[in-house]
Amino acid sequence: SKTAALYQELAELDKNHFLHPTSPIQQQQEQGPAFIFKKGEGVYLEDIKGNRVIDGMSSLWNVNVGHGRTELGQAAMEQMSQLAFSSCFATFSNEPAIRLAAKIADIAPGDLSATFFTSGGSEANDTAYKLARHYWILKGQPSKKKIISRKKSYHGVAMGATSATGLKPFRDFTNSLAPDFYYTENLSAEALRETIEAEGPETIAAFVAEPIQGAGGVHIAPEGYFQEVRKICSEFDILFITDEVITGFGRTGKMFGMEHYGVAPDMMCFAKGVTSGYAQLGGVVFSKAMFEDFKELSAGTLLHGYTYSGHPMACAVGLKNIEIIENENLIENSGKMGEEMLKGFKWIQGERELVSEVRALGLIGAVELKSDKGQFAPAVVAEAAKRGLICRSVIFDGMDILVFAPPLTINKQEINSLVEILHDSIFAVE
Ligand code: PLP
Repeated sequence: SKTAALYQELAELDKNHFLHPTSPIQQQQEQGPAFIFKKGEGVYLEDIKGNRVIDGMSSLWNVNVGHGRTELGQAAMEQMSQLAFSSCFATFSNEPAIRLAAKIADIAPGDLSATFFTSGGSEANDTAYKLARHYWILKGQPSKKKIISRKKSYHGVAMGATSATGLKPFRDFTNSLAPDFYYTENLSAEALRETIEAEGPETIAAFVAEPIQGAGGVHIAPEGYFQEVRKICSEFDILFITDEVITGFGRTGKMFGMEHYGVAPDMMCFAKGVTSGYAQLGGVVFSKAMFEDFKELSAGTLLHGYTYSGHPMACAVGLKNIEIIENENLIENSGKMGEEMLKGFKWIQGERELVSEVRALGLIGAVELKSDKGQFAPAVVAEAAKRGLICRSVIFDGMDILVFAPPLTINKQEINSLVEILHDSIFAVE
């Protein structure tokens, strides 16, 4: 048929010319692309063969407002027609970038007030680490340069972001990293204190943490952890950076993940949900105090900037996207539907012996399998894809975890479908 021929043609071109990000190269070569998507609508994705699947991951934890939002296409089109690009270097500026920076200051935790824009989360993390170190140079403490992160963390793939990533396989993938990165035990404030004391607080620039660890398997901090972390960072004069690349913009049932803990960082990285993936955008928001210090102590040029820092079209899309999140009460829906999703996971846990633990906060969740029986998560993911659900497995370091992050627009019926397909997929492989 025509679609079979189209798939064949594209699959061949894909295999010969397209090096996929974070991909199993040999499997890709043998089997070709599992899905060649062509359309998205709400929580659904459709491929060129006409398969319709629930996007249980919001693609890469990012399509928060769901697929097929023509308002965002309209916002991009209007901005691109008016002014697609101009520089924000030196003293140039543009209205969407200014307004988005102001909007983020308005909605971000604590006194976070000034945004440096990037094209995505990896650049946001590199920016945070570089500017944290630069800050200590300005403050006359250049020995404060070490960055501490946590063992199951993921912060991206730029050189600094890779170096901060606690998941070791990402670091071992390349054989030389950025210097002065250190890793502390997961989710333990006591361990952080010990690491700081062992390394010497006078050598440490910053500690970075995801409010909920995403790519490392959706690990939620115990009660009191982040309050203690904040106290420790202040006590030792160490900057606290939160990486809200996944948890930002409604994912956890709050605008930002840290709101669950009532804690404000000195710097906050964001990306993904800021545009719901409709344009490439990320950034770092700095506290008022840090921004004031930058303004007061910087003598020369801030020698850090990407061509696309403050991209007008991306920022216009970001503004419209936040407006949708607010106007459609998607944060409230994330909280409510997150509870439904967790209820569903608990039901599966009761039904299926293979499940050891389930958790969720808003619309980010995990179903953990009994790893003593072998690794089943990849087989469940493959089975679920056949049955109409996309989810992801996390199998680093012997973990056997299924993770979920559906669009914040999801309704009860769609949650039920997700839960049902997941249940049947686990049943099929156990
Ligand atoms: N930080 C976190 C917490 C992430 O989950 C990711 C991506 O998944 C990144 C940073 C990197 O973002 P990007 O892929 O946009 O560079």
